Amino acid sequence: MNYGSEIEKVLLTGKQIEIRTQELADEINRDYADKELLVVCILRGGVIFMADLFKRLTVDAEMDFLAVSSYGAGTTSSGEVKVMKDLSAPVDRKHILVIEDIIDTGITLSYIMEMLSARKPSSIKLCSLLDKPSRRKVDLFGDYVGFEIPNEFVVGYGLDYDEKFRNLPDVCVLSPSVYEKNN
Ligand code: 5GP
Ligand code: MG
Repeated sequence: MNYGSEIEKVLLTGKQIEIRTQELADEINRDYADKELLVVCILRGGVIFMADLFKRLTVDAEMDFLAVSSYGAGTTSSGEVKVMKDLSAPVDRKHILVIEDIIDTGITLSYIMEMLSARKPSSIKLCSLLDKPSRRKVDLFGDYVGFEIPNEFVVGYGLDYDEKFRNLPDVCVLSPSVYEKNN
């Protein structure tokens, strides 16, 4: 795919993501073989990954959605997390798998994991398409991780910059000129 000057380079192609997503689904299908799974998608960045993963699940699976406040138009974490849309049903006795686009500082996700754990699910695990371990500020790890990536701001395949670029089929590095204009 050829992109314009706003994109510096393609980091992961849609094809690479598809292959890795199937591997993750295989693992999840094995691990939850005799369990009922509640897949909790973190809106909005995780939605494309969740859909591609979800259709590859062969175990009993339901989906629900959670929206929290994110970075806004900037590219660094504010550390503030606010629930904008809560789950639509109680989670007690459910096996929760949280689906996120990227683990960066881990601040948002550790808040989400603690909040959901407090609702007493049977189990809770985390699946993230991307992981930037070099940026971690809290002790948090993904149980299922698609790709570890370097400390670069990425867009596409659900990930946005100021709500744009979510529709790109690849994960791409954004040109610094795009956010230097705004910050
Ligand atoms: P954390 O709390 O782990 O720092 O933030 C996680 C959230 O920050 C992600 O769900 C995502 O919305 C946003 N984020 C972190 N790194 C990136 C990135 O490289 N690109 C985009 N588009 N969002 C990011
Ligand atoms: Mg997000």
